[in-house]
Amino acid sequence: MPLYDYKCPACEHRFEARHSMNVDAPACPACGHTPVARVITSAPSVAGGMLTHAGDGRRASKEQLQSKWAEETPKLRKKLVDKLGESTVRKNAPHLFNDNG
Ligand SMILES: [Zn+2]
Repeated sequence: MPLYDYKCPACEHRFEARHSMNVDAPACPACGHTPVARVITSAPSVAGGMLTHAGDGRRASKEQLQSKWAEETPKLRKKLVDKLGESTVRKNAPHLFNDNG
């Protein structure tokens, strides 16, 4: 489960909470205020972040996405392999090894 950083807008207490993405932010443990603001402190893990972004496609057209993906895949694959080892990447992201795209 991801760990989130929050900051309470009422009392400025900062705290971390670990919960699934589908769950609403918890109330401030210091004053009970809700909602609290999510604080973005760091990029998500390489694997999770990049794989998620690939499917995100803000406003790019499908073709732009495909060519971007084709361009990025070898780089991403190398990055992941360097970091995690090829067998891990193959197991978790087999599509990166599928050159037919
Ligand atoms: Zn508070």
